[in-house]
Amino acid sequence: MAKKSMDFHGLPVVKVSRRGANRLKEGHVWVYRSDIVAANGVAPGALVGVVDERAKPLGTALYSSASQIAVRMISCDAVRDFNSLLRERLHAAIAYRGKVVRDTDAYRIVFSEADFLPGLIVDRYNDLLSLQVLTQAMDTEAVRQVIVSELTERLKPAAIAERVDPRVRELEQLPPRSSSLLQGEKTSTVFSLNGVRFHHEAFEGQKTGAFLDQRENYAAAAQYAHGEALDVFCYHGGFALHLAQHCPKITGVDSSRPALEVADRNASLNGREIEWIEANAFDLLRDYANAGQKYDTIVLDPPAFAKSKSNLETALRGYKELNLRALKMLRPEGILVTCSCSYHVSPEDFVEVVAHAARDMHRNLRILENRTQAKDHPILLAVPESAYLKCLILAVS
Ligand code: SAH
Repeated sequence: MAKKSMDFHGLPVVKVSRRGANRLKEGHVWVYRSDIVAANGVAPGALVGVVDERAKPLGTALYSSASQIAVRMISCDAVRDFNSLLRERLHAAIAYRGKVVRDTDAYRIVFSEADFLPGLIVDRYNDLLSLQVLTQAMDTEAVRQVIVSELTERLKPAAIAERVDPRVRELEQLPPRSSSLLQGEKTSTVFSLNGVRFHHEAFEGQKTGAFLDQRENYAAAAQYAHGEALDVFCYHGGFALHLAQHCPKITGVDSSRPALEVADRNASLNGREIEWIEANAFDLLRDYANAGQKYDTIVLDPPAFAKSKSNLETALRGYKELNLRALKMLRPEGILVTCSCSYHVSPEDFVEVVAHAARDMHRNLRILENRTQAKDHPILLAVPESAYLKCLILAVS
């Protein structure tokens, strides 16, 4: 079929190399700076037409003058009106959640590229919304206004907060900005995941407040959990509070005192007694394992160890060490829930690391569930980077 002609209506044009064009033809949505042939005079954050080296149009994109990802596609057609595209995409993202989200009033409403809105994250915590802007193109007052008005109209939240990650702004060469309320006045609420309740403070905690991507894994892990449980890297107690439905004794470990304070308030909110320990998980696991401490269920949910490809080896060693210690401490018929949120660690790498740890510890592992991020964090088949979370639930004998 002949490609229809595309009129970019005066948009600036970015020319990409053959390699860049091929990537787009395979369905990916990024072009790296090294694959840009010409972007003369294109302003930071501009809406641009994208063409290949023979000037054949490939679609419309958002441009960044700072990121290694110079071009993020938003359409394979010409886009006349960015604001109405934004509205349509927000509407579609909300409708998608209506189909895939159950048993919760907290979930991700917009997941950047995976919702065809590159650079925008919106999370819902009951009646509060929290948004994050990650790119130059999304960082304009006009865009914020459209987002706020559309979200307000469709979801009627009590307030909308913008959470700023200074590191992201620096990398995108955006001027410093403070976190603030974009709409409404309310800054704290209570939300529930699978019937378990959590406190939310709009301007506290990591990310936008919670690790919502683990919501379905909490419920899955709880199905198999039994006996004495240890939740390592517990943050606000997401796994611990779900395991408490089946485990008589639970300990949560994290190095962040503020996180554990919230975890403790969450335990009270749910009428649970959980022991929280502030410690470096590596030290604690080593000491406990050497002391012969035993558990029936252990959760490992560390932060991303591999922030880039270059420290993959160190990251894999970290995962191996954690899994070795956990396997040493699990009683026969134990349950290991082991996670990795590093995109650079592939599911195959992760399974291999855990398998090596099992071999070293002479334990047999059966995969009860091989899981990923909750469905409100969609995965685009053509964009491997959108799949990052791995969660193995294993029966240990
Ligand atoms: N399981 C949590 C999310 C964990 S995020 C949930 O489902 O909500 C990773 C957590 O690891 C953070 O809370 C961070 O404070 C903690 N952390 C980072 N490095 C650590 C270390 N060396 N020892 C213990 N905790 C650590």
